[in-house]
Order: sequence, then structure tokens, then C-alpha cells
Amino acid sequence: MPANRLELITIGTELLLGFTLDTNAAFLGQQLSAAGVQIIRRTSVVDTPAEIRAAVDEALTRTGAVLTTGGLGPTRDDMTRNVVADLLGLPLVFNDDVWEMVLARYRRFGRAPAESNRSQAMVPAGATWLRNEWGTAPGLWIDSPRGLIIMLPGVPLEMRKLMEHEVLPRLRARGSDTVVRSVTLRTTGIPESTLAERIGEHEDAIAPLSLAYLPGLTGVDLRVTAFHLAPDDAAARLHDAVTRLRSTAGAWIYGENDDDLAAIVLGELRAAGATLAVAESCTGGLLGGRITAVPGASDVFVGGAIAYANDIKQRVLGVDPALVAEHGAVSSEVAAAMARGAAQAFGASVVVSVTGIAGPGGGSADKPVGTVWFGLYRDGVVTTHRSVFGGERAEIRERAVQGALLGVWRGW
Ligand code: AMP
Ligand code: MG
Repeated sequence: MPANRLELITIGTELLLGFTLDTNAAFLGQQLSAAGVQIIRRTSVVDTPAEIRAAVDEALTRTGAVLTTGGLGPTRDDMTRNVVADLLGLPLVFNDDVWEMVLARYRRFGRAPAESNRSQAMVPAGATWLRNEWGTAPGLWIDSPRGLIIMLPGVPLEMRKLMEHEVLPRLRARGSDTVVRSVTLRTTGIPESTLAERIGEHEDAIAPLSLAYLPGLTGVDLRVTAFHLAPDDAAARLHDAVTRLRSTAGAWIYGENDDDLAAIVLGELRAAGATLAVAESCTGGLLGGRITAVPGASDVFVGGAIAYANDIKQRVLGVDPALVAEHGAVSSEVAAAMARGAAQAFGASVVVSVTGIAGPGGGSADKPVGTVWFGLYRDGVVTTHRSVFGGERAEIRERAVQGALLGVWRGW
């Protein structure tokens, strides 16, 4: 049976209580789709036999292929193995090879296994066990009349290693000759609805590829995905879709996949032989933080000021107090003066300044919370721009950082 669709069940009460983030699910989604296997449904269940049993039972009935993580350890709350064996009517058989693997691992650490570890050597009759050199719980692979069941440990490292070394090679060997592949185009500075108006016409043309709009704090990502196509076909269609989307939304697309606007900006400034400084008020250093998170930033970025208090705007950046008195600290005039002052103080050829109202207090009718003024100094010329961002304090500040980078990248 070519398993190019399966259900994922992540097992663990801690996942449902919210204490542990289900990072296994995210990892498996990416790895499996790259291998041509699509997770079509995902369930998380608590560590009780009834819930585990019901989830596996339903998934087998519905889809005929299921991958579980968690509940393979030696403790009482680890019951996936027993529950699945019971569900399929398979007796558990003590496996000497698995026990030898467990013993070898303990020997390596100079310890003796506990009696409870023997449970990890119990393998459902007819199952294939998957060697785990990174922990003591082997993975299990069962081809049953009801379908395929793959059980992996919950510990993320062990799960990842078993995927890489044991599961993906077996899935590939089953001969799924198709892939699930995505390209993400990263846009910023354009609202989702406006973007959809511009590129909506292409949605039919790029079928059967699907287009997802993924709005976030750095902008709207456009993810194009090819499901279950031959690798060459997927690549050609993705290329065509990207070309189409770029033709209408190119002005807002700063990169693809994991690209970071800060890195793009630094790259362009580097190529132009420019240097960059920042003058930050409401972002309180977040902008400098984003920029310096990029390796190699030092050859472009010279530094900046966190001029939070008006007094500091005056003393460090030379902002005339009369401007603040007349227009307010969040104004075009002050943003411009901050940019100009930082250019002088830091000797950079490009400066971006940010001053805004991050909230929750401080808003007014004409300057609501979320109002941010940017200043951009470039080779002696200063321009300013106003944005009004939604969200709470944290979102407004993140959006302001991205807005500042957008200004440097292509103007507002
Ligand atoms: P288990 O194999 O169920 O004993 O899980 C061992 C540990 O792995 C748990 O205590 C969690 O910290 C972690 N873990 C289990 N499931 C997941 C998951 N889906 N995502 C991330 N971590 C997990
Ligand atoms: Mg567990």
C-alpha cells in the first residue's frame, strides 16, 4: 500500500495541558511532505488507553495509515505499544534483540537497566522494530490488515533521528513517486485583502497548486504548494506560479521561504557600499536587535540610539525641543529630526528612525495607539512616513520594526 497520506497522532497529556509545544507535529509535517507523504489529519490525545485506542482506531478506519509519537517509554504513562497491540489483537512478544539494544545502551553509560525497561523489549507479534541509538525506546512499524501503523518515541531528538534513519527510507522504498512541495513568497507593506485583489486572478491559472495567504507580524506570506505531483512536474509548476505571482505582487515580495527582510536590507546596502544606523523610540532596541541578529551585520550596521525619553532625543540626537512641544514626539517632524541627528551622530549614509505609540496608553483621537512615524535619511535627504498598526503593544512594536526595514528596503 503506497502510504502517501497518513494521520498523525501525538500522544501526551503534557501536549494538551499546553506545557509542551507539539514541535513533533511541525517537524513531521515538513519532513513527511518533502517525502511525498501528506498528513491529512492530526490529533493529540492524553495518556489514557481509551483515548489512544480510539484515536488510532478511527485513524485506521478513516485513512488506513497512522504515525504516532509518544508513549513508548518505560513508565506507567507510556502505553501506546500495549494499546495498539491490543487493538490489533497482536500478542506482545519479548524480543531479545531489542533487549540487547537496551542493555548495550545502559552499558555505554555504565548503568544497569531498571526492571521497567523490559517493557521496552516487548514487541507486537509481526511488528518491525526500529533501532533507536539515541534512547531506549525502539520505534515500531506494523503492516496490519487494517493498515500501516508507525510508532515513534515522543522525545523530539529520538523522533527526528528515527524518522531520518528508519522511517523515511522505508516510506521512500514503498515507492511514493510524488512529492508535496511548497514555495513561500514573503511580502510586506501590503494588506492581505489588497494582495488578494492583485493576485486573485492567478489562483485558477496555477491550479492544481494551492495558494495560501499567511498573515503575520512581518507581512503576508504567500505559500504555493504542489500536492502529490511528480518531482519534475511540481518544480516546473511551482516555478511558473512564482513567476506569475512575482509579475503582479513583485513590488511587495522581498524574499522566499526563510528570508528575513533585515538580511535582505543589509545585503542590498552592502552591495551599494552604504552604512546603516537606527534611531529608535517606541521599538526600544528591537530594530537594532533584528538587524544585528543577522550574521555579518557589522560591515553595514554601525549602531544606533534608543532615544526613548524626549530629553535623550534632544541630547543624543539633537532633536529641537520646540519640535516636540509643537508637534509631539510622535510626528513627522520629530521622526525626521531623529533620522538627521542620528546620521550626524553615527556618520551613516542611511538612517531609519521610529517614533510611535505602542500602547496600551498614550493614544488620542488624532494619534491612536499604533500610530508610528518613520524617518528615512539617505545621502542627505530625509523622507517620513506614517503607519497605523493594529494589535497590542508587542505586535505594534514588531510591526514597527518591519515597517522601518521596509522603508530602507524600498521606501514606503
Ligand atoms: P514520551 O515518549 O511520551 O515519554 O515523551 C517524552 C518527552 O518527549 C515528553 O516529556 C515531552 O517532553 C516530549 N514530547 C513528547 N511528545 C512531544 C511532541 N509531540 N512535541 C514535542 N515534545 C514532545
Ligand atoms: Mg509521554
